[in-house]
Amino acid sequence: MYLNGRFLPRSEARLDVEDRGALFADGVYEVLRAYGSRLYLADEHLARLKRSLAALHIQTTAEVDRLIEITAELLDRDARPEAQVYWQVTRGAAPRARGFPENPRPTVLVLSWPIEPLAAHEQHLAGVRAILQPDRRWGRCWIKSLMLLDNVLAAQAAAEAGADEAIYHRDGIVTEGSATNVLIAHRGRLITRPADEAILAGITRARVLELAVEAGLPVEQRPFDTGELAGADEVMLTGTSTNVAAVTHLDNRPIADGHPGPMARQLHAALIADILRYCGLA
Ligand code: PMP
Repeated sequence: MYLNGRFLPRSEARLDVEDRGALFADGVYEVLRAYGSRLYLADEHLARLKRSLAALHIQTTAEVDRLIEITAELLDRDARPEAQVYWQVTRGAAPRARGFPENPRPTVLVLSWPIEPLAAHEQHLAGVRAILQPDRRWGRCWIKSLMLLDNVLAAQAAAEAGADEAIYHRDGIVTEGSATNVLIAHRGRLITRPADEAILAGITRARVLELAVEAGLPVEQRPFDTGELAGADEVMLTGTSTNVAAVTHLDNRPIADGHPGPMARQLHAALIADILRYCGLA
């Protein structure tokens, strides 16, 4: 792993107990993936990390600017060409007081985990089950902050219901999944909520929308409610760890005939092809 300027084994990593990430969730993160030693859409992830930092008034440092190179070196050292990568930047460590400390030094952490090569399981479109959950998070979900407690509870509620993901709604209007963005297909149109303040502007969501436009699919960015979700021809999830998944059941009721549909298949195939091309594996 990498922590504050050093590559080191986990057993040697020391994180200050007064790090504001741990005390206040006062920090931001990104999750991205490497395939064949290339970080997919790394510039987009770094740009979003910087937007999140700016929103929290955490200064971007030279170390943050070098995160892509640092990560490449880490994956090289660990001989890990296929990886899930976690970037975390907090405001730093300081005696516990709520206001910002003077001259904090941001804590920069990079972790990675091995994943299977894309050629294996992800080539296959996953059919998943979802449940609905009220969205009780704060109103600034476009910031990718460490404050994920409601997402944790929603994911656990899904697991306890035998489902894979929780889909949030605010007063009946769909926001996003606990770790994914939500898209629906209806009468040949691809519909998704605009990336406003209430959801994370998913990197996968944006890329899938571009690929849909390139394929000539009509794309509509507008809010939709839980009724339209349940009655859609198809429901899809997008995310870095999910790629494109087809929701086959919502609250134990089938979406259409309860099988992944053609638009999910098409967008999943287009995304996998894009990853392989981008990472020089095609
Ligand atoms: N929404 C939320 C709440 C998430 O945690 C994630 C995963 N980071 C996403 C959407 C999907 O974003 P991305 O495609 O950038 O991984």
